[in-house]
Amino acid sequence: MAIALVAAIGGGGCGGAREAGKAPAAGRRLVILGFDGVDSRFLSRWMEEGKLPRLRALAERGDYRPLGSTNPPQSPVAWTTFATGTGPARHGVFDFIERDPATYLPDVGTGGVRPPRFWHDLVQRAPAEGWSRRRGMPFWQIAAEHGVRPVVLHVPYAFPPDPVPGGRMLAGLGVPDLLGTNSTFMFLAPDLGAGGGRRGDPGGGRLVPLALAGDDATADLPGPPDPRGGGRPALTLRLGIHVDRTGDAVVLHLGEHEERVARGGWSPWVPFRLPVVAPLGIPLVAIDGLCRFHVVSIDPLRLYVSPLNYAPSHPFAAISAPGDYAAELERALGPYKTVGWSEDTSALNAERIDEQAFLDDLERTMGEVRAATLRELERSDWDLFISVFTQTDRVAHMFYRLLDPEHPRYDAVLAARFGDAVERVYEQMDEIVGAVEDGVGARPGGETVLLVVSDHGFHSYRAGLNVNTWLKNHGYLVQGAVPGRENDDFFPGVDWSRTRAYALGTGQIYVNLRGREARGVVAPGAEYDGLLEAIARGLEAELDPATGERLVETVYKGPEIFPGAPRERAPDLQIAFRDGYRTSWRTPLGGIPNELMEPNMRKWSGDHAASDVADTPGVILASRRLAGDDPAIVDLAPTALAFFGLPVPAEMQGRPLVEAAHR
Ligand SMILES: [Zn+2]
Repeated sequence: MAIALVAAIGGGGCGGAREAGKAPAAGRRLVILGFDGVDSRFLSRWMEEGKLPRLRALAERGDYRPLGSTNPPQSPVAWTTFATGTGPARHGVFDFIERDPATYLPDVGTGGVRPPRFWHDLVQRAPAEGWSRRRGMPFWQIAAEHGVRPVVLHVPYAFPPDPVPGGRMLAGLGVPDLLGTNSTFMFLAPDLGAGGGRRGDPGGGRLVPLALAGDDATADLPGPPDPRGGGRPALTLRLGIHVDRTGDAVVLHLGEHEERVARGGWSPWVPFRLPVVAPLGIPLVAIDGLCRFHVVSIDPLRLYVSPLNYAPSHPFAAISAPGDYAAELERALGPYKTVGWSEDTSALNAERIDEQAFLDDLERTMGEVRAATLRELERSDWDLFISVFTQTDRVAHMFYRLLDPEHPRYDAVLAARFGDAVERVYEQMDEIVGAVEDGVGARPGGETVLLVVSDHGFHSYRAGLNVNTWLKNHGYLVQGAVPGRENDDFFPGVDWSRTRAYALGTGQIYVNLRGREARGVVAPGAEYDGLLEAIARGLEAELDPATGERLVETVYKGPEIFPGAPRERAPDLQIAFRDGYRTSWRTPLGGIPNELMEPNMRKWSGDHAASDVADTPGVILASRRLAGDDPAIVDLAPTALAFFGLPVPAEMQGRPLVEAAHR
């Protein structure tokens, strides 16, 4: 009797020890479906219009609220808050980009992949591996350590994959392409002369000129860097091309694979292998990848090649936990896209592919994630299930212009054809939520709670503010004459000995602080505080000369919104733009063009990255009533842990939205 009692109490303990063979709160299951960037206004409108029946039914049966985002309201920051239950001050991700105070140059704000290491270039000592700026343990890892079995698919910026004993995890956004970039497409054509590409625009893809001999050509596609480094040339992929004019198609040869692609069509995934061979012909490593081809046109010939994806069966760096899980999914479902930035916004933005091609690719990718989600759901060996779709965000970035007649790239003809693109992706989301609900079913004696969340909302991006130009015009940034370099990045001609503030990233301003920046001039204390105040009030008063409207809703001060953050990393000011505005395209990498404002003439036409957290919420829908008011994305991690009756770590800032398990 006494032993049984001790066992019962011990079984409900919150001490953190893993209970072998028995999940806590047995029978409880939690499913979290994430849809990046779903905006509450769009969602409410289309639910009311009856276009999203499953989401509407979920809202009516359970709950539906705006979900507070992070400051700034953007994916790297918000999904890292989702994972850790902490804000950026603690988790350490402030934007896609941060600055190095020693050099004033931009640096990646999220993470990346370290190359493999070799012994005398003969033997691999250590494989390539991902790294992240994230601090703190994600809730799925904490849960796994307590015996809750997680399945985690495609959570943005959860890369490298976390150890999840007893569970499975596939990384999504954060996984680079084989060039080591966020996502770089290639574009092949015979007429890529001067002006064929925007020099210095990292979003413009790699342009490969084709020398056609009759209807045939051979091209060496730029491949990954040589993993041994040392200034060796990049690897290349040899592509054979034959134009079949009567068949209105192109025949492509890559390795031993031949693919025939009709004009306007897409190839399936084509695998390739790039061996790296040491002297004396010793095979060192082989880099495996996947790509797809799209025939934009035949006369003139224009070919699009997707970013070179890691092969799921043999990724360049681990993208899953356990390591062979990515391969297991490929065996079950076929090859799939692994590059984290999974919609080719750059190719549409550079106008190398058209709206239809972008949407065809997006739909296929959403289908791949859907298939993996439903397959994993069907297996009964999980307690906590998380899957995130990013297509809802990407389509809104690229097609907002067709929902906003005030946008400089609004086009009535395109709007008639593609004005419903965002709505259609929301309809796919609705179908997926329905399929997941049907797939989960009911487990005898247990209960399953479903949460559908998005990390932030959306705004139109009609005009950009050149923030460095504004700082220069107001005497905070001093620039010498730079004839011919007015449009360069990286602070051309800036006199740091007389510059007090500078801007990098989307919405961040940094003070040239003495003792922190390499050539800092602003004294900490009263001078620093006064400068923050003056810049903030000045930006808040700035008017758009075109409309007479204010651009900036408010400017947040870093020490207030990032308390306790490492000062060499956290921004000093965070601009919160009003609807219609953002930092310009030239600001994130330190450009200082002459004009203060620039109309946004790109197809990337919706944004949120430098918007005000107060008017850019995401959403949460739940299969039951949520506890408390004003839910926020920081609440999800403690919600999940409490749901399984696990202790919520003291550093987590949110609070549970669903009542805790009684144990
Ligand atoms: Zn976005």
